[in-house]
Amino acid sequence: MKALDGKQETKSNRATEYAEQVFETVKARNPHEPEFLQAVKEIIDSLIPVFEKNPKYMDYSILDRMVEPDRIISFRVPWVDDLGNVQVNRGFRVQFNNAIGPYKGGLRFHPSVNNSIIKFLGFEQIFKNSLTGQPIGGAKGGSDFDPKGKSELEIMRFTQSFMTELSKHIGPDTDVPAGDIGVGAREIGFMFGQFKKMRSRFEPGVLTGKGIDFGGSLARTEATGYGVVYFIQEMLQHNDLDLKDKTVVISGSGNVSIYAIEKAQQLGANVIACSDSDGFIVDTDGICLETVKRLKETGDERICEYVKEHSNAHYSDNCTDIWDIPCDIALPCATQNELDEDAARKLIANNVKAIGEGANMPCTHAAVDLFLEEGVLFAPGKAANAGGVAVSALEMAQNSSKISWTFEEVDFKLQEIMKDIYQKSMGSAEEYGTSGNLVAGANIAGFLKVADAMIAQGVV
Ligand code: GLU
Repeated sequence: MKALDGKQETKSNRATEYAEQVFETVKARNPHEPEFLQAVKEIIDSLIPVFEKNPKYMDYSILDRMVEPDRIISFRVPWVDDLGNVQVNRGFRVQFNNAIGPYKGGLRFHPSVNNSIIKFLGFEQIFKNSLTGQPIGGAKGGSDFDPKGKSELEIMRFTQSFMTELSKHIGPDTDVPAGDIGVGAREIGFMFGQFKKMRSRFEPGVLTGKGIDFGGSLARTEATGYGVVYFIQEMLQHNDLDLKDKTVVISGSGNVSIYAIEKAQQLGANVIACSDSDGFIVDTDGICLETVKRLKETGDERICEYVKEHSNAHYSDNCTDIWDIPCDIALPCATQNELDEDAARKLIANNVKAIGEGANMPCTHAAVDLFLEEGVLFAPGKAANAGGVAVSALEMAQNSSKISWTFEEVDFKLQEIMKDIYQKSMGSAEEYGTSGNLVAGANIAGFLKVADAMIAQGVV
């Protein structure tokens, strides 16, 4: 027995040492990339039990290989503004891992975009895409271009210039970009037009999130937000709870938030708040989605305009204070690190029951730890917001087989995928000794499929 204990301890020491050593190398190689380090740290911490149980992943240096992208493409994006001035932005594409399928991941246009942001997003995308069960690798891209306040023609000239360079690196079986913050159907349309013009070929599978008339999938627009709510509903039901009549706070008012609000309302929840980067609105009668859609989806307005039409609602101009509002369920759907330890404490003090990450890494490490410690049901972004990219993969499948499914067909497949991700993540958590911890479970389940594919394909 003693000898066995000793063996156990040695195995565990080796796994912990391996994890620490990989993280030290990542830190030394990427010293000024806090978001990337944050995303890597979370994964590495979850994987220690996997290395203990299956030392082969250490023997094949799988983690050392996974934390280093296959390639990073960085390029100049020159364009001409409406006043005739030449502007220059930076463009990026990180192709992280294609062990289980072509690189796949969105493009983000936001002034905060830099190497660290794109790499954290690309790294997370490897695990998220693996969890969907679809054949897609991990990538991300974007630019520090700020679409806010730009005219439609400026956006078109910028996206065309961006695609002129990006087109050299993408293709239906190579790398398939889509949208993310600042990139919606309009931008994808402009990029698709430019790609088509450059190749003289109609290749719909090169981008997802396209308009329905030229190869887009029904339900892709709704997929991320609906998927978050399907996942939350699954998690609640497994804990003898239900969304019906629950009070819900959802940050953001972009594509993810809008469709999370829509689905949560359809399932009987009372969504009382949402936000933008300036502030948040509270409407205890329930958010009027029609108004939010008009302001944010069709118009380019600020969320504060909402209160002009709804006299019971009120507006506050500090968007992070949205987490002070008492609620049963909180869905951070805006951006990374928007919910910190203080906010987590307030939510817990107000008896929050469940958190679902609609955005990528919206909760800080300390906030996540606190939720887990306090037994708050916690759905991590890699699992909960995977519905968008999952339906992107369904869009690729429709494009390559030249057929299109109905809204109901895609929505049904999405529901099945979200349930499957929940079950897989719970199963892995259980198997690796962290029962009920969906953060660890999602990371482990996402990792195993990619790691096994990498081993099978040799050292490449
Ligand atoms: N940007 C989305 C995400 O974070 C969707 C990516 C895609 O559809 O490729 O998963």
